[in-house]
Amino acid sequence: MTTLLVRNAKILVTMDGHRREIEGGGLFIRDGFIEHVGFTSDLPTRADEVLDLKGHIVLPGLINTHHHFYQTLTRAVPAGQDANLFNWLNTHYPIWARMLPEDIYISTQTALAELALSGCTTASDHLYLFPNGSKLDDEIAAAIEIGMRMHASRGSMSLGESQGGLPPDSVVDTEEQILKDSQRLIEQYHDPNPGSMTQIVLAPCSPFSVTTELMKQSAILAREYGVQLHTHLAETEDEEQFCLEMFGHRPVGYMQEIGWVDDDVWFAHSVYVNQEEINLYAQTGCGVAHCPSSNMRLASGIAPIKELIAAGVKVGLGVDGSASNDGSHLLGEARQAMLLARVKEGITGFSKSNDRTRKLMTARESLNLATRGGAAVLGRSDIGSLEVGKCADFFAIRLNSIDYAGALHDPVAATIFTQPVKVDYTVVGGKFIVKERQLVTVDEGKLIEKHNKAAKRLLSTL
Ligand SMILES: [Zn+2]
Repeated sequence: MTTLLVRNAKILVTMDGHRREIEGGGLFIRDGFIEHVGFTSDLPTRADEVLDLKGHIVLPGLINTHHHFYQTLTRAVPAGQDANLFNWLNTHYPIWARMLPEDIYISTQTALAELALSGCTTASDHLYLFPNGSKLDDEIAAAIEIGMRMHASRGSMSLGESQGGLPPDSVVDTEEQILKDSQRLIEQYHDPNPGSMTQIVLAPCSPFSVTTELMKQSAILAREYGVQLHTHLAETEDEEQFCLEMFGHRPVGYMQEIGWVDDDVWFAHSVYVNQEEINLYAQTGCGVAHCPSSNMRLASGIAPIKELIAAGVKVGLGVDGSASNDGSHLLGEARQAMLLARVKEGITGFSKSNDRTRKLMTARESLNLATRGGAAVLGRSDIGSLEVGKCADFFAIRLNSIDYAGALHDPVAATIFTQPVKVDYTVVGGKFIVKERQLVTVDEGKLIEKHNKAAKRLLSTL
C-alpha cells in the first residue's frame, strides 16, 4: 500500500456535487484512490509521500474525449493548412498510409505528453488507420508506459473510394479483419473496473468511410462485451449531404436507423444537429465530444453546445486530431469551448439583447465540460471530480506565475480565461506524470527528436 498526502493548496477545486472550492485544501490518497478530501487541517498528517502545494490551485484531471494521436506527426502540413474537412482528409490519407508501428508509438507518447502538460489525465483516442502492420496495441503500450488513463478506440474504415466512400481503397480494411481484431483487443485489454487504466471502444470512423454493415456489426460486438461505441457525426455540411444522398437520412437519422443512438455511444462533433436530434440524444443518453478548435480550424461550423447542455445531453471536450487543431492543449480547448459558445451567442443577438438574465457560457461551465462532462461521456463514475473513492487524478498550477498575474481575484475562472501554458503537476492514480513542470515518465528531449525524425520521413517522399 502506498499513500500520498497533498496539502495546503491555495484552492482545491473538487467539482463535486456541491462544486466545493476549498481554500487550504488537500487530498489523502491510498493506492491510487482518494481516501480524504478537505481542509489540510482535517487530513492525516503522515504519508509515504507528501506534496505541499502551497500557492497552487488544484483541479480534477481533465478528460479528453476525442483525439487522433498519430496526427501529431502531421501538424501544419502545408497542403492541408487551409482546407475544409474533405479536402484536408484527401491531402493527409496518402501521408498517413506510410506510417509504421513505431510512428504510432512515438506519436501517442507525444500527444499524451502534451495533454499531461495541459492538465489532462484521461484521454480517448480514435485510431482508424493501421498501415504497414501497425496495431492499436502500439498506442496502448505507449500509454501504459507514460502512465495516462486511456480509452483506446479501435477505429476502422471499410468504405473505399471505389464503393462511393471518401478514403482511397489502399487505407480501408475488410469487415472481417476489423471485427476479428476488435474482438481480440477487447478480450486482451478492456478493463471495466473502477480505476481502470485501459478501456477499448469500437469506433468505425465516419458515415462516409464505413459500410452500414460494419456499423451494425460493430454495435452488436460492442454490446456483447459491454464496451462503448464512438464515431464522427454531423461534423460538416458535406457529410450531411453525403448521408442524405447515400442513406436517405440526415446523419443522426441514419445512426438511429442502425441502432447507434443509445447511452453507450458518443459522437465527435455534432455541429449539424437540430433541436429534435438534440432531444433524441438527451432521451437516449447519447454523448457528444465537442471539439471547438478543430471545428474552427476546418471551418466546419459551431456546435450548438448551450442547446445540448440545456437539453441535458452529456457533453465532453476533445482536442481532436493534432492535424486539425494543431495541438493537444486541453486547458486551451476548454477556453476555446467557452469562447466559441460566446461567438454563437453573439451571432444569435446577445450583443443587442436587453435580457439581463441571458448569460454567456462561464469559465466554470467550461471546466465542467472538461471534467465531469468528459467522465459522463466516457461512461465513468470514478473520474471527473475530487471526491472520496474516486481516482486520484488531478493537476496543479502555481499561482505566482505570469499566467495568473492580475487574475488572482478568481483563480478558478482564471485557469480557463488566461489559459496557463503548462501545469506544474499532473498525477494519475496517485502517480506523477508531470512534476515541477517536467514530464517524469518519458524523456521529453529524446521523444521530440524521435518524433520529428518520424514526421520528416512521412513527408519526405511527397
Ligand atoms: Zn476526429
